[in-house]
Amino acid sequence: MPHDHPDDAHPHSLLPSDPALRVKALESLLVEKGLVDPAALDAIIETYEHKIGPQNGAAVVARAWREPKFRTALFTDATAAVSEMGFYGRQGEHIVALENTDRQHNLVVCTLCSCYPWPLLGIPPGWYKSDAYRARAVREPRKVLAEFGLELARDVALKTWDSTAEIRYLVIPQQPAGTQGWSAEALAALVTRDAMIGTAIVPSPA
Ligand code: FE
Repeated sequence: MPHDHPDDAHPHSLLPSDPALRVKALESLLVEKGLVDPAALDAIIETYEHKIGPQNGAAVVARAWREPKFRTALFTDATAAVSEMGFYGRQGEHIVALENTDRQHNLVVCTLCSCYPWPLLGIPPGWYKSDAYRARAVREPRKVLAEFGLELARDVALKTWDSTAEIRYLVIPQQPAGTQGWSAEALAALVTRDAMIGTAIVPSPA
C-alpha cells in the first residue's frame, strides 16, 4: 500500500489530483442518472456547514453548568439529555458525557479511525483524524496536551477515552471562575470545540 510508505516518492499517486473536482463529477453523474436529488444534497451540506457544529455541544455544556438537574441527567444518560435539546442523528446514537473535575481531566480520541459526536461537534478537525494524534493521545497524552498549550497539573489524573462506532464522548469542561450567574448564551460563547474534545480547558475570562 503506497500510504504505508511516507518516504515513497509518489505517496499519493493513487489519489485523484483534485478531490473536489472528482466529487463534483460524481455528483453531476448521480443527478443526471436521477439517483440523487440536488436539493437533498444541498440540504445536507447546509446542515453540516451551518446547523451542526461545536455551538451545539457548547449549548449542552452551558446548560450543564447552569442547571444541576440537567447536569445529573447528562451524566446519567447523555444521549437522552442531548436528544431532548434537539441534538441527535447520524454519529450521535450513543453519547457519553465525561466530567472534568479538579482531580480528573478527560481526553477523547478514536484510535481506529475518526469516530466523533457529529450532532454535537460537527465534522472532526483534521488533526483528530491524523495517525499522530490517534497514536499519541493514548501513548503520551500529557505531551499531546502540552503541544496544544495545556500543561496539566501533576495531581490531576488524565484519562484517555477511545471512541468507537458504538460510543461517542463529549467532554464537559469545568466552568471557569468568575462566570457564576452568566447567561446560557454568554457561557456557551466561552466553550470551544477543543475543550469538548479535551485538548483544551475553558479559561477564566477574567
Ligand atoms: Fe472511528
